[in-house]
Amino acid sequence: MTQIRNKTDYNLTKKEWRDSNKEKVKESRKKWAVKNKEKRNIITKRWSEKNREKRKEYFKKWRLDNLEKCRQYSRNRRARIYEAFGSHIIGDWETLKAQYNWTCPACGKSEPEIQLTEDHIIPLVKGGSNNIENIQPLCKNCNSRKYTKIITYSPNGEINLIYNGEKEK
Ligand SMILES: [Zn+2]
Repeated sequence: MTQIRNKTDYNLTKKEWRDSNKEKVKESRKKWAVKNKEKRNIITKRWSEKNREKRKEYFKKWRLDNLEKCRQYSRNRRARIYEAFGSHIIGDWETLKAQYNWTCPACGKSEPEIQLTEDHIIPLVKGGSNNIENIQPLCKNCNSRKYTKIITYSPNGEINLIYNGEKEK
C-alpha cells in the first residue's frame, strides 16, 4: 500500500515537481492563457482592482525607500534629453575642419602638428547645443586657454568676442 501523505507533504511534492519542471509549467500556463483569454483578462482585472490600494502603497513605500535611485533616474533622464537636444555626425565635423583648412583659428597651427578638438561656442552647461552650428575647431591648448570666454572664430579669420568670461555685475 502506498504511503498516505499529509497535505503539507503533498504541497511540498507539488512544489518540487513544479521547480524541476519549470519549462513544462510555463508551457502549460501559456497554453491555458491562450485558450482562456477572456477568463484570464477577467482574473487579471479583478486582481488589479482588488490590489489597487496595495499597489499604490507599495510604490509609495518603494519611492520613499529609494529616493536616491529615483533622483538618479530623473538625472539620467535629464541627461538623455540634454544629449538629444542637438547632435552632429562625424561627417559634419570633418566638413567643418575642412572649412577651417584643418587649422586652429586661434593660433594658426594645423593638423597634424596639433589636434583639433570640438569647441562648443556656447558651452553645453550654459545651454548651448551639440549641433554643428555651435561647434568650431580649436586645438587643445587654445580650447582650454579660452576658459569661459565665448569667442567665435570664423573660417575667414573673423574673430568675435561675445563674452569675456568675467562674471556679470
Ligand atoms: Zn590653437
